[in-house]
Amino acid sequence: MESCIFCKIIKKGIPNFSVNESKNFLAFLDINPRTKGHVLIIPKKHYTNLTDFPSSLAKELIEFSQGTAKKVLKAVKTADFNFSINNGKNAGQEVFHAHFHIIPRFNDDKLAHWPKSHSDKEMLKRLAEEIKKA
Ligand code: AMP
Ligand code: ZN
Repeated sequence: MESCIFCKIIKKGIPNFSVNESKNFLAFLDINPRTKGHVLIIPKKHYTNLTDFPSSLAKELIEFSQGTAKKVLKAVKTADFNFSINNGKNAGQEVFHAHFHIIPRFNDDKLAHWPKSHSDKEMLKRLAEEIKKA
């Protein structure tokens, strides 16, 4: 896609700090890292997010992500990380080319955890039924 910054990174070699590559994926350092070693994993073909990401790439994605995470964690000396994808504007997606975040976590990294809310069992039961029926 012409205007997509991540397509430009793949196709036009826009400068990036790549750390790993496979047949269908590239891993590079996030330009505004949340923690040291924050890496993005992107498919070389353009998909918007998880919604249109093909399941045929799932195995390669998991294996590539595991391999990349192992190298990142070794380099930044921690064992913990978040693996996530933001789907849509309200979920914080800013670049609409599917990408998976590897964010190393440290004891004192000060990154906020998602706040928990309270809920009652009846509400959860009803919601689960609605989701199953949808
Ligand atoms: P998201 O909010 O999930 O869409 O994440 C987009 C991420 O891409 C952000 O963490 C940005 O810092 C990162 N980003 C945007 N442009 C670049 C770039 N040219 N090179 C590396 N990371 C980028
Ligand atoms: Zn793209």
